[in-house]
Amino acid sequence: MRKSIFIVAALISFAMSTNTKADGQLPAKLEILKKHYAEHITAIEDNFIIFKDGKKIRIDDGIKKDHQQKLKQADIEDMLSQNYPVGKCNDGKMTKDNDPGRIRNDEFFRQVFASTKSQAEKHLKTIDWFGEKLKVTSNNNAHMALIKVREELARYKNLRKYLTPSAGTFNWRNIAGTKRLSVHSFAAAIDINVKYAAYWRWAGGKPGQVKPFGNKIPKKIIEIFEKHGFIWGGKWYHYDTMHFEYRPALIEIGKQFKTNC
Ligand SMILES: [Zn+2]
Repeated sequence: MRKSIFIVAALISFAMSTNTKADGQLPAKLEILKKHYAEHITAIEDNFIIFKDGKKIRIDDGIKKDHQQKLKQADIEDMLSQNYPVGKCNDGKMTKDNDPGRIRNDEFFRQVFASTKSQAEKHLKTIDWFGEKLKVTSNNNAHMALIKVREELARYKNLRKYLTPSAGTFNWRNIAGTKRLSVHSFAAAIDINVKYAAYWRWAGGKPGQVKPFGNKIPKKIIEIFEKHGFIWGGKWYHYDTMHFEYRPALIEIGKQFKTNC
């Protein structure tokens, strides 16, 4: 009896220590988020992000969720709970359900980008992508970041075939198989040439149970996108290797905190 009480106490203290560790990073992560969306966020107060238009979004809803529930109904804390590994594990072998950047709070994205299709369209800028014309959002200067990516990638002619034709930037739509908006809805993501892509659904994967893949996207491409604030979908357990999305806060958080694949 005494032994079992001891075991229970040890388990509780272990759970508390791992929780505390995760929570301990949250204030710093929120400050980084605020910095990168400074044109929208005025303050982080108690359990809320306060926006310039007066809107408040709750940070922690207090609900314990498994990974699939986090994807479906993420609060801000869930959104920041997985750190993106910058510059490492480029062969895209993530541990189960490690999807850094894929857990998104819809409300937050609608607030910092656009809440409707017509609002999103107002912010579109046309940029050159190796001879193609692509529409990218000017919100949070995403279009300028993608121009920098193109300028740097232009130095490597051998990489051109992976990058163009692009499989798309702007498309107001839900993520396949879900009711959540894709980041393509805000034109803050780019799909490169589909010919070299691996996508967990196409490979016959199920949520929480994907099939392994051989990555064909060169490391140099991933490195240059990350340098300018884009995360790569090949670093998700539920992988999407043609997909890069503009998440400069996650890149900075990933650099600041030790991150495993
Ligand atoms: Zn995509």
